[in-house]
Amino acid sequence: MKRSHPIQKVRNIGIMAHIDAGKTTCTERILYYAGKTHRLGEVHDGAATMDWMDQERERGITITSAATTVDWNKHMINIIDTPGHVDFTVEVERSLRILDGAIGLFCAVGGVEPQSETVWRQAVKYEVPRICFINKMDRIGADFFSVVGSIQSQLGANAIPLTLPIGEGEDFTGIVDLVTNKAIYFDSDSKGSEIRIEEIPDNMAKLAREHRITLFEQVSGCDEELLELFCADEEISEEQLKSAIRKATHNHCLTPVLCGSAFKNKGIQQLLDAVIDYLPSPIDVPPIIGSCLKGNEIERIPKDDGRLAALVFKVVTDKHVGKLVYVRVYSGSLSAGSYVKNTTKDKKQRVGRLLRMHANRQGAVETLYSGEIGAVIGLSGSTTGDTISCPDNPIILEAIEFPAPVISVAVTTADRAHGQKLSKGLSKLAEEDPTFIVSKDPETEETIISGMGELHLEIIVDRLRREFGVIVDSAPPQVSYRETITSTVTINERYVKQSGGRGQFAETKMIVEPLEPGKGFEFKNEIVGGAIPKEYIPAVEKGIIDAMNKGVWAGFPVVDIRVRLIDGNSHDVDSSEMAFRACAKRAFKTAFMKANPELLEPVMTVTVVTPDDYSGSVTGNLCSKRGRIAGMEAKKNIQTITGMVPLANMFGYASDLRTMSQGRASFTMHFEHYEAVPFGIAEEIIEERKKR
Ligand code: GDP
Repeated sequence: MKRSHPIQKVRNIGIMAHIDAGKTTCTERILYYAGKTHRLGEVHDGAATMDWMDQERERGITITSAATTVDWNKHMINIIDTPGHVDFTVEVERSLRILDGAIGLFCAVGGVEPQSETVWRQAVKYEVPRICFINKMDRIGADFFSVVGSIQSQLGANAIPLTLPIGEGEDFTGIVDLVTNKAIYFDSDSKGSEIRIEEIPDNMAKLAREHRITLFEQVSGCDEELLELFCADEEISEEQLKSAIRKATHNHCLTPVLCGSAFKNKGIQQLLDAVIDYLPSPIDVPPIIGSCLKGNEIERIPKDDGRLAALVFKVVTDKHVGKLVYVRVYSGSLSAGSYVKNTTKDKKQRVGRLLRMHANRQGAVETLYSGEIGAVIGLSGSTTGDTISCPDNPIILEAIEFPAPVISVAVTTADRAHGQKLSKGLSKLAEEDPTFIVSKDPETEETIISGMGELHLEIIVDRLRREFGVIVDSAPPQVSYRETITSTVTINERYVKQSGGRGQFAETKMIVEPLEPGKGFEFKNEIVGGAIPKEYIPAVEKGIIDAMNKGVWAGFPVVDIRVRLIDGNSHDVDSSEMAFRACAKRAFKTAFMKANPELLEPVMTVTVVTPDDYSGSVTGNLCSKRGRIAGMEAKKNIQTITGMVPLANMFGYASDLRTMSQGRASFTMHFEHYEAVPFGIAEEIIEERKKR
């Protein structure tokens, strides 16, 4: 078997946008023009092919990053559909990690909305080259140049139009292509499949000329060859221009902007052409870096006969085929039936079938080559972020970082039979989603599910019902508080038990001190000379971890602490691992309470977009929730208010905001950091917790 497309003709792209900008509709059109679907599904009638999970159809939002492959102009384009809701930013992060290029999609009326900004910054972090598409040019109030302006000012991108709209709102009829210097019109009877190319209309000639000059100037600024031609007033061919735009896009020197209307079938083919012309192929991006088992850095070049290096970026349980492990192959080839090594889990595995995905339908392939994306069946135990490599030349690629969950819900079932189904369902769902964690409350024995937001957990509960047939009762969501300390305490603890038979003896001396936020836990054994025999040291650490997990002050996990074990004592006969574990646990608890403990809570960045009329009530309300207003920005009659608010006070905010603004304001929210809870409130929380 040979590759269906040479690697330079492969594009791995994502579409990133604010919710409702039209990502799903746009992807649908791409599938349609590329000949994959024969019917146009509309999001509002719940028939879109990409949004294949029932919940997504019902809620009209895109949750999973379904990966899909289309052919366009002898190129293979792999599209990862990334979600727009903030509860799922991790999905965006992990798809950006494996993509080579992205389309930033904006609404021609809404412009750069808060979530597009968040996602854009993530793309900047991963250095993903981008092109922009300004969608919904057919809507009343569409304003192409204003959106281009805010991409430049708010996102700091050198956004340069490659197409201009002919008319806006109801008068939007086609586009001017500044590269070919022609006008393009779309025939509505053929759903835009048939296009007409004409001369640029007279009333747009001047505008087009000006923007074409800007384009040449900007591109020449990034390309010496072109600069020479441009300065000498020599002819610049379409090919030369395209190749220079391509280079400038890859170097982040320039961001091409196109426009159209997915809904009205205008401009999508040009967007696909631009993906091919300007976004990088897997060989245009730097080779992937990883480390060998000894820790030395190594590089893998995308070559089919090279050593295999692939990254698992998503795991999905499919009703029909079981577990699907989505991978991006960076180098070498992954063949069905071959043996590979999951280097992260240190496990040799056999590759079952390989699939290429078209939304929820699949087609089998024999091999996934360098630079390709596909799904594997038969890599049990593999989870998101794992590296798959050849068994004799292992490599570990840098894992994807996931934020810790900030919200928890206790779930219960009516009877034992459902209880068993529940644990099965939960473990499957947790396998798919690294930001979703299942645990047991050590005191109440209840099952606790934790995630990134209310919607995230609601969807999990919904999926339990639909996919696993478990009806669960869920308590109101709880904030995931943490405990920590603010000062250093040295403690000496003796643990002696003499109750007939063999006694128990252990003594530990430790320094318990605060660590910087986010540092977790550090244990240092600083004993010299064997005051505590070596074999008991791990038991000391375990004892501390026991106490930390269970929480000391109010039963919330303890974080950001260093313990230095400095001295101790043991007894030849009476000392045991158990005695040291119990001793360390008790010592830690006592020290913790003496070290000025503090409760930490997740604080969210909340961005509200509201008509002017309601901005007073919105800010007042945020302040009443212990929020701090971090910024306000006015655009036309719309205010964007950004605040930092404790998550504890944000439950049910969607409906509060709706009432406050008669449904006209919207908001997004994402986790910012953990912060100390004011003392009085901390006491109330602890009191409440003790009652439970
Ligand atoms: P997503 O949340 O970004 O995936 O956005 P959707 O594709 O679900 O679109 C949100 C809404 O905008 C739906 O009602 C679409 O029909 C509508 N929509 C999408 N593209 C366009 C467009 O180009 N013009 C207009 N007028 N509406 C659009």
